[in-house]
Parts: sequence; structure tokens; C-alpha cells
Amino acid sequence: MAKKQKFQSPQGMHDILPEDQGYFEKLYSTAENIAAFYGFEKIETPILEFTELYEKGTGLNTDIVEKQMFSLRTKGGDSLTMRPEFTPGVMRAFIQHGMMNLPQPVKLYSIGPVFRYESPQAGRFRQFRQVNFEVFGEKSPAIDAQVIQAFYNLLSELKFKNLVIEVNSIGASCCRPYFKKILTSYLRSRVNSLCLDCKRRVRENPLRFLDCKEEKCQPIKAQAPQIIDHLCEECNNHFKETLEFLDELGLPYRLNPYLVRGLDYYTKTVFEIFNETPSLEGTLPVALIGGGRYDNLGKVVGGKDIPACGGAAGVERIVNEMKKNKLRVSADTKKEVFLAQVGDLAKKKSLKLFEEFRKAKIPVAESLSKDSLKVQLTRADRLNVRYALILGQKEALEKTVILRDMKNGIQDTYKIEKAVSEIKKRLKRKK
Ligand code: AMP
Repeated sequence: MAKKQKFQSPQGMHDILPEDQGYFEKLYSTAENIAAFYGFEKIETPILEFTELYEKGTGLNTDIVEKQMFSLRTKGGDSLTMRPEFTPGVMRAFIQHGMMNLPQPVKLYSIGPVFRYESPQAGRFRQFRQVNFEVFGEKSPAIDAQVIQAFYNLLSELKFKNLVIEVNSIGASCCRPYFKKILTSYLRSRVNSLCLDCKRRVRENPLRFLDCKEEKCQPIKAQAPQIIDHLCEECNNHFKETLEFLDELGLPYRLNPYLVRGLDYYTKTVFEIFNETPSLEGTLPVALIGGGRYDNLGKVVGGKDIPACGGAAGVERIVNEMKKNKLRVSADTKKEVFLAQVGDLAKKKSLKLFEEFRKAKIPVAESLSKDSLKVQLTRADRLNVRYALILGQKEALEKTVILRDMKNGIQDTYKIEKAVSEIKKRLKRKK
């Protein structure tokens, strides 16, 4: 067995290699186009924030704050944490920069890495990337529907075909405490049959019982009271209207009364989006995107009442799913031209010619470090380019270049200064 290299990347943290960059770039550019269409403006917040922001914002009883934060103490004694999610930081920035004084709603998006000390398992990383859309300053359920639509479009534009949106409402401070009481007393009466985690959840965060995946808890879950039966009138209307908007938009959703999501700050609508590929049955579909409304977060973070709704798309999960479903990323940067050279003079001339193509913004592949024409043309073949430009000793002396059509093998010779315009002409014709 090969000896393990001394330094490996830290567990759960991965290199994104050149061959995978196309997937990431495609996802980011699709997200940016969608953001522009719906009026989301980009915001970048620091990777480090005060730990207290997450303790208060994300919530003390969440898995993230209990177990998953990468925290550090600065030399000055501050406790900072590497962002485990975007939302509290973006809300902090919104308040800090007085964005509530701008015309509302304010729509913001962010893209970047987040960090969670997860236990290692498939699809769970410790450093991963998220695309985040958030709308601040608007209570209307139309916004809930629009956020879901924007995320749905992100996946459908990446050509996912089997998308399902799961939605639920988890009420708000007006009705959730009462529901928690009902659920807690139901769970207390069956506490001996609960899994170990849920025994603890009864005391600390009973709602989390609803999304427990342990087999032991399933029969108890099936009989458990459901939150949508206990929503107050306002939360109930909000949910009903959100669903009406989703119907109107023709989005494929289903109600999931057990969807609660892991974070404390959600109010009213919560949602997740899955790709359920029939051919991959048996493998549990993982949520690619999750989000909801968080009308209380503004108060917790900055003492301001700011209705808000948003969500996060897990970039690595989406990329993995794109690969599993064999969704191709169109090679926008595919090179159509290869520049080959033989001999010292030709090498010099081709360096200059290469720069002329750059100025003309025509992507060209080359193998300047290779001397053998055969090796270079094999590479041109492998890159599947349409045209090869060949500069040999004779051509270099005559200031000409051979243009070879790689599809039919036909070769023509041109003056070197005509090479760019001839290629331009041919590429245009091809379109
Ligand atoms: P959350 O911020 O927990 O609501 O997650 C939003 C999305 O981020 C999920 O739907 C996943 O796609 C992705 N995600 C969450 N946790 C991880 C993780 N540990 N590794 C990779 N992706 C994750």
C-alpha cells in the first residue's frame, strides 16, 4: 500500500480541483443571473463574526451552536467564530449599515464558504459553500413564495428534472410556545420509547423531535400533534397565502408537517428543496436548499423589528447531485483553436500569434513546451478543437501559417497576419 502523505487536507475540508471548477462556475453564474433578475444585490460579510452573534442569532439550542462552531480567541481577548451560516451576519450588516432606512424590501445575496464542525459522513463537510438569498423588510407571503421560486429556478436552470419543494409552517411567538407545550406533554407520556437524543430534546428543543430520523421515534411521530393544526389565525393565513402563491406559480410542492429545520430563528414558513431522481431510488434524497422566514432575528441581533425571509443553497451538495445525474456544464470556455509549432523560429512567431488571439478575445489552446508535432496534434484532438494552426520552419520563414480543419482534415495556408481574421470568419460561420 502506498505510504500516506504526511499532510492531507483537514477532515471534511476539500480541494476543488481544476476539473471540477466548471461545475462551481456554472452554479455561481446561474445564481448571479437569478439574483440580478430578482433584484438581489451582492453583500460580502467577514468570515469571522463575534461568537455571541451566532449564540443569540442561530440559537443556543441548535446543533450548530452546541457542537459545530469553529471558534477562536483573538490576542485581544475577543471570542470570534468562523461563520457557520450567512444569515446572522447579513442581518447584522443590514442593521449596522442602517439599511432599514432604504426603500424596503432590501434583497441581498452572498456566496462563499461556511464552516461547521460536523461528524464526518457522506454529503456533510466541515468547510462547504453556500449561495444565500435574503429579503429584508417585507412581511408579505408573496416574498416567501418569491424566495422559494428563485431557489427553485436556480436548480431548474441547472437542468435538475425531479425537483420537489417541501414546505411547512412552524408558527411564531404567538402560537409556537403553546404548541411546544402540547408536544412536550405528548412526548413526556412516551419518553421511555424515545431515542436518546429525543429524550434530551423533550427538555431542550422538543420541535427537533419532529425531524428525528431514528426508527424508534417514527411510530411516536406518526401519532404526534401537528403544528399546522395549532397555528394562530395570523400564521395560518400567512401559510395559506404562501401556498396559494406557490399554486399560482405552478411550483411542485408538498406539505411536510415534520419539517422544522434546525435553527431557532425561523418563524412561519420553512422549506427545503430536493432532487428526487427515480433511478437513484433507495438512496435517501438530501436537501439541496433550505430556508424560511425569520421575522424575529432582527430583534435578537440588533433590537430592531425586521421581517425577513431567505434561504441557502449548499453548493457542494448541488455539484455532487449534478455529477450523479450526469448534468453537463456547457463548456463556455471551450477552446476551438489549437496553435501548434515546430522549430525555434516557429516557436517565437507562435508566441506572438498567441497574444494576437488573446487581444481578439478568441480562446486558443497551445503546447508551447512540446516540440513534436504529433504530440501537439494528439492534444488538439483530445481537446476536440475545430481548427489547428500549424507553424513549421518553412511557414515561419515565409511568414505564413497552415490552418487545418480538424473535422475534415482540409488544410489551407494563409499569411500569418491574416490568421486571426480567418479564424474569426470561420468561427462566425460555424455559429
Ligand atoms: P442549512 O444552512 O443547514 O439550512 O443548510 C442549507 C443547505 O446547505 C443544505 O440544504 C445543504 O445543501 C447545505 N449543507 C448544510 N450542511 C452541510 C454540510 N455539512 N456539508 C455540505 N453541505 C451542507
